[in-house]
Amino acid sequence: MTVTVDRDNRVAASARDVWKVFGSGEAQVVALRGVSAEFERGRFTAIMGPSGSGKSTLMHCLAGLDVVTRGTIKIGDTQVNGLGDAGLTKLRRDKVGFIFQQFNLLPTLSAEENILLPLAIAGRKPDREWFDTVIDTVGLRERLGHRPSQLSGGQQQRVACARALVSRPDVVFADEPTGNLDSRSGAEVLNFLRRSVSEFGQTIVMVTHDPVAASYAGRVVFLADGEIVSELVEPTPETVLDTMKKLDAPDEAAH
Ligand code: ADP
Ligand code: MG
Repeated sequence: MTVTVDRDNRVAASARDVWKVFGSGEAQVVALRGVSAEFERGRFTAIMGPSGSGKSTLMHCLAGLDVVTRGTIKIGDTQVNGLGDAGLTKLRRDKVGFIFQQFNLLPTLSAEENILLPLAIAGRKPDREWFDTVIDTVGLRERLGHRPSQLSGGQQQRVACARALVSRPDVVFADEPTGNLDSRSGAEVLNFLRRSVSEFGQTIVMVTHDPVAASYAGRVVFLADGEIVSELVEPTPETVLDTMKKLDAPDEAAH
């Protein structure tokens, strides 16, 4: 195994020779087969691949939402695997932000309360200036008092983006963040994610199976059958599509 030393703290998250096996015996599924990848600080990286290729599993392992079977996960200089429940809870609370396909907002709370909830749970006070910057960037100023049910899908996902960013996490993980949005709302969310990287230096790792969504990232990593099989920098929808066509996509239609 090679050991890399990240002297200047360049890497926000990494996986080294990560294996993930679900179940046992005949029901056994090997979801990740020796994945190694580094996610640089201040970059927007997309993880692509056909349905079932292991994208969500990799993201969950990186984010401390699931444990690896073998291998090493790091967030900054914290080794994630081997942390106990308390350590994992603290890591998820203090170092990572999440954006999910289904928004995952609490229906009884206002947009502002949803955005501030993770900080409230952590017992941290919001940096008001940063809160204002985030709110203005996502264009939610007029909607802060609204409940999720009073917001469109695109607005709800922008609330979720603001919630992920307000604590200034080391990494924001987004799993198919535009999967439930029309293309216009999706583009708004993707533009916002890209701006949070270019203007605020946020690190984002986004899982998607949409070539257009992936083209908002600065780099795309391709998974197939639990392995990293290709990579692109400065992707366009065309180069992403070309790469996908070259890769085996047996059950893409089943997504
Ligand atoms: P993707 O996000 O690329 O669609 P996943 O990471 O969700 O793929 O799944 C990768 C493989 O692992 C699939 O074969 C899936 O069925 C399997 N898998 C994922 N989660 C579980 C689980 N909790 N239990 C059993 N198998 C799982
Ligand atoms: Mg998935």
